[in-house]
Amino acid sequence: MSVEPLLAKDLRWVVCPVCHQSLEREGDIITCNGCRRRYPIVDGIPVLLADRALI
Ligand SMILES: [Zn+2]
Repeated sequence: MSVEPLLAKDLRWVVCPVCHQSLEREGDIITCNGCRRRYPIVDGIPVLLADRALI
C-alpha cells in the first residue's frame, strides 16, 4: 500500500474553493460545475486555488 498524492482522477471529494460546487475534469483542465471557473492540472495534481483559476 502506498499513499498517493491528490491525483486528478480523485475529484469526487474535492470541491471548488470558491463556490464549493462539484468539479469536472476535461483533459488537463478542471471545470467547476457551479461558477464555471477552470483550474489547471500541473504534473497530475489539480491546482485548486482561486487566484490560479483560468476563468
Ligand atoms: Zn466554483
